[in-house]
Amino acid sequence: MPHSVMMDLPGLIIKQPVISEIKDERFKKKHIRVSMLRLDEVHPVISGNKLFKLFYFLQEAKKSFLPIITFGGAYSNHLAATAFACHKMNLKSIGIVRGEMPPIFSHTLLFCREQGMELIFLSREEYKKSKEKSFLQKLTNRFGEHILVPEGGFSIKGKLGAMLIAEYFSGKNFTHISTPVGTATTFAGIIDAVKNDCEVIGFSVLKNLFDINERLTELEIDPSWKYSFNGNYHFGGYAKRAGELILFMNEFYEKNKIPLDFVYTAKMMFGVNDLISKNFFPQDSNILCLHTGGLQGNQSLPKGLLNF
Ligand SMILES: *Cc1c(COP(=O)(O)O)cnc(C)c1O
Repeated sequence: MPHSVMMDLPGLIIKQPVISEIKDERFKKKHIRVSMLRLDEVHPVISGNKLFKLFYFLQEAKKSFLPIITFGGAYSNHLAATAFACHKMNLKSIGIVRGEMPPIFSHTLLFCREQGMELIFLSREEYKKSKEKSFLQKLTNRFGEHILVPEGGFSIKGKLGAMLIAEYFSGKNFTHISTPVGTATTFAGIIDAVKNDCEVIGFSVLKNLFDINERLTELEIDPSWKYSFNGNYHFGGYAKRAGELILFMNEFYEKNKIPLDFVYTAKMMFGVNDLISKNFFPQDSNILCLHTGGLQGNQSLPKGLLNF
């Protein structure tokens, strides 16, 4: 059962996410329904898609009690989720961070450290080489046997974890499922889980996700399954924001009382709104947008910018 998915990870019990309808006269006029799966509410600390992508890695770690080593940037939701989950499960976690050690830690890095994650900073040059055998050997020399989680969970195992999300909405007659795309692990998981039942739309939050097809191939997605990828709503690139996006987030909160994060979910919702206004979706579409969480990332915005 979906709500018990996390039960066998001690300390990580998650709440069944609700599906909220996004009411808007403009949608109604076009005979389109939009709803949101509130994965942001499944857990007070690590919300969203990250715990799902980590699920099978954590299960393995729980059995073996091996440390988990993973990778990410200074604002990475993935690092934060890994640090928290490992802390709860009494596992050692090591985070390889992209970029030199900053003089002042981001709130994400502070959080990771509080959770007991050991942080190792690599220059951007070194970080690029961190997938190479010689670097991985160094990790083994230093930390012994461990479980390696690729950045953002990008792997078959991560995809299998993301597939668990689909249990919350299967059989509910949605015609489209929309999700933000970073590493494409979640996107792939949803495509694989729903196969051809509905169309999955991925919204890139990166400017140059040119290798999306290679990524999906690596995650064993059949190109004939029903999905589409949209690269038009990245707002200048990863973690880039525009006044228009902040305005949209504030309006969205006012109307729906749902907070969005500026790196992922706001871009997707802006995209869905815009595509509806451009008549991309046929009449009687029933769209489910995944709120993949990430709200901790808003803490890096200047105070007062958001109305929530
Ligand atoms: C990491 C993240 C994503 C991207 O997920 P991928 O599986 O890497 O594509 C989407 N939304 C939020 C809030 C995230 O933190």
